Amino acid sequence: MSEFSFIEKIRNTFSDIPSQVEGIGDDCAIMPSGKDRSLVYTTDALVENVHFLTAATTARELGRKALMVNLSDVAAMGAKPVATLLSIAMPKEKTGEWAEEFMLGYSELSHRFSVALIGGDTTLSKSGVMISVTAIGEVKNANIKRRRDASAGDIIFAGDILGDSAQGLKDILAGDTQTLYAQIHRNPQAQILEGEWLGAREDVHAMMDLSDGLASDLRHILHQSSVSAEIWLEKIPHRTSIENALSGGEDYKLLFTADEASSRKLCSDFSERFGYDIHAVGRILQKQTEDILWKENGVAVNRTFVGFEHF
Ligand code: ADP
Ligand code: MG
Repeated sequence: MSEFSFIEKIRNTFSDIPSQVEGIGDDCAIMPSGKDRSLVYTTDALVENVHFLTAATTARELGRKALMVNLSDVAAMGAKPVATLLSIAMPKEKTGEWAEEFMLGYSELSHRFSVALIGGDTTLSKSGVMISVTAIGEVKNANIKRRRDASAGDIIFAGDILGDSAQGLKDILAGDTQTLYAQIHRNPQAQILEGEWLGAREDVHAMMDLSDGLASDLRHILHQSSVSAEIWLEKIPHRTSIENALSGGEDYKLLFTADEASSRKLCSDFSERFGYDIHAVGRILQKQTEDILWKENGVAVNRTFVGFEHF
């Protein structure tokens, strides 16, 4: 069974339990809170030898990354992160200095975005480190960005350069742990303030964060919005390779769609506010047989890209 069919199965098994919460399927679950606001919830686990090698990352980097990937999912809803819960299982030899360094990293990032740590769990592990973070965000209902809100005609945007992290993972696995890309892989800079800012814009429609590569993640927006897309390969922002940019995981940059009519204004407002550019990489189309049409300078190319799946 694939990772996505397993999640789909879970979704179906629990769908008959009535709930006010908008559950499985987006970057966060949405729970109404007060008249016109909601809280959003997400959780992500990091497992030693699957998500990281303790020999190739410092504990401090890992503390920051464990939190960052969760803040990224909160930002992808257009929400502001407010609190987290942290569960950590570690072997005896990691309970001293390593654990302190980990917490230092986690605390640095918590302070940077004023996100409180409100609880968690600490336990011994007999097989490596396992970290699970739950993040909670707050958002005005009008600002919530869901995956299902893309419309035909929308322009598709990548929030920043893609593929650096995938190159970094390749470097690390090849034993080259100190390259620029390896450092980016261990220290992702998710678009936290940017997500909240994009949330407040009516011209932005669907949004998610890129954790498995655009080729895979865009399909979630397409399926949930019942649309297709064309992607302009020559516009994909990358400085390593197009394969890293489309199929590589762990960029933690935003992917979103917006009204074509105001897309120039959106680009210039974003650059003015944040000092760097977002990139128009394609267009949402009415639903057709193919999910994604890959084009290069206006011409269809006979290639396909896939993203990362855990199993
Ligand atoms: P993301 O990459 O944004 O963290 P995922 O691809 O991990 O999202 O998950 C997709 C959706 O499936 C999310 O809404 C997530 O909460 C849900 N999900 C994933 N695994 C489980 C699980 N074991 N039980 C319930 N929901 C899950
Ligand atoms: Mg996500």
